[in-house]
Amino acid sequence: MGVPLNQAIRVGAYVLKQHMLGRKRYPLVLMLEPLFRCNLACNGCGKIDYPAPILNQRLSYEECMEAADECGAPVVAIAGGEPLLHKDMPRIVEGLLKRGKFIYLCTNALLLDKKMEQYKPHKNFAWDVHLDGDKEMHDVSVSQGGVFDIAVDAIRKAKDAGFRLCINTTLFDGAQPERVGKFMDDAMALGIDGVMISPGYAYERAPDQEHFLNRQKTKDLFRGIFRLGKGKKWKFNQSALFLDFLAGNQKFACTPWGKPTRNVFGWQRPCYLLGEGYTKTFAELMASTDWDKYGTGNYEKCADCMVHSGYEASAVREAVAHPLNYIKSAIFGPRTEGAMAEEISLEHQRPADYVFSRHVEEKMESLKKDPKVRVTRSGATKAPEVLGTAD
Ligand code: SF4
Repeated sequence: MGVPLNQAIRVGAYVLKQHMLGRKRYPLVLMLEPLFRCNLACNGCGKIDYPAPILNQRLSYEECMEAADECGAPVVAIAGGEPLLHKDMPRIVEGLLKRGKFIYLCTNALLLDKKMEQYKPHKNFAWDVHLDGDKEMHDVSVSQGGVFDIAVDAIRKAKDAGFRLCINTTLFDGAQPERVGKFMDDAMALGIDGVMISPGYAYERAPDQEHFLNRQKTKDLFRGIFRLGKGKKWKFNQSALFLDFLAGNQKFACTPWGKPTRNVFGWQRPCYLLGEGYTKTFAELMASTDWDKYGTGNYEKCADCMVHSGYEASAVREAVAHPLNYIKSAIFGPRTEGAMAEEISLEHQRPADYVFSRHVEEKMESLKKDPKVRVTRSGATKAPEVLGTAD
C-alpha cells in the first residue's frame, strides 16, 4: 500500500465519523489549484487554455488557508497549472501542515531540483510527480522532449533528501500493458512511495482529442496491466476497490463532491475535471449544486470518465457500505479475468452544455473592474507582488 499508516488511520476515522454523523456528502480530498499557469503545454491538458490575464491569477496564501478551513477535507492535493511557479508555495505547504493536512504537491518536476531546498521532509507531505509512463510515453504526453529525464533525476534527489515521493500517471489510448507494467517495475526500483494511476479525462479544451480512452478500452487496459502486476509489490496510493473499478469489476456512480476543487474562479462545479459553474463558498457549492446532473449516465461530458476525481470517493463509500467487498479486493487485488460488471446506461444522459467561453468572459469582465489588476493591451496583469511567479 502506498498510503502511510498514520494517514490511512486518520482518513479512515474521518470517513467513519462522517457516516456516524449521517452526512450524505462530504469531501475527502481538497483539490487546490492556486494557479493555472504552467511551464509545459501538454496536448492532453484542458487547464491552460485560458487568456493570459486568467493564467496570471494566483490564489493567495490566505485564500488557500481559507479554502482548507472551509472544506475540512483531511487530504489536500495541490494541483494546477504548475504549483512550483507560485512564489508563496512553501508558505502554503507550511500552513496546511500546521492544520494537520496530508499534502500531495503535484508537479511536473521541471523546477523541483531548484526549489527542493525551500521545503522540508515531513511525514504528511509528499511530492506527487507527473510521470505518464516510460521516457518515450512521458515525453510524448507532455509534448516536450527531455522532461522524463529531468523528472527522474529530481525524483532521485528528492528521495535522497528524505522526502516522500509519489508519482501520478495518466494513461491515454494506445498505452500498452507490457510497457506500463515495465514502467511500474522501474518506478518501484526508484524507491517511490506510491503510484496514482488513472485514465486521462477527455477535456473539451485539450488540443489532442483523439487519444483519450473510452470506458471499455480503459477496463481492458487496466486488466492487462494488473495481470502483469500479480505477485509484484507495486505500491498504489489508491484504494483497492478503485483499482478493481478500473479493471471493470465494480459499478460505481460518480461522487464528485469527494474531491472538491478550489481555484482562481472560486469553488468549481462539479469536479476537478469539469468547470460547469463556480460558487464563492464551499458551503454554497455543496448546497446549490444539483449533483444528480453529473456522473456517467447523467451527463454527456461524463460518459467516458473513470478518473479518481469522481470515483475514488465512490470506492471509499462502497468500502464503508460493503466492507467484505473491500476486504476481498484488498486481499486478492483487482480481478483480471471473467465477466465485467454491468456498464451504466447512457440512454438518458443529458447533452453537453458548453459553458467555458461564458465563464472566461465573466472572469475577464470582473478582472477589468478589479483595482488590483493592471490592464494592458495584451491583457490584464496583477501587480508583481500579487502575481507571485517564482520561476
Ligand atoms: S464523471 Fe464525475 S468526476 Fe468524471 S467528469 Fe463527470 S462529474 Fe467529474
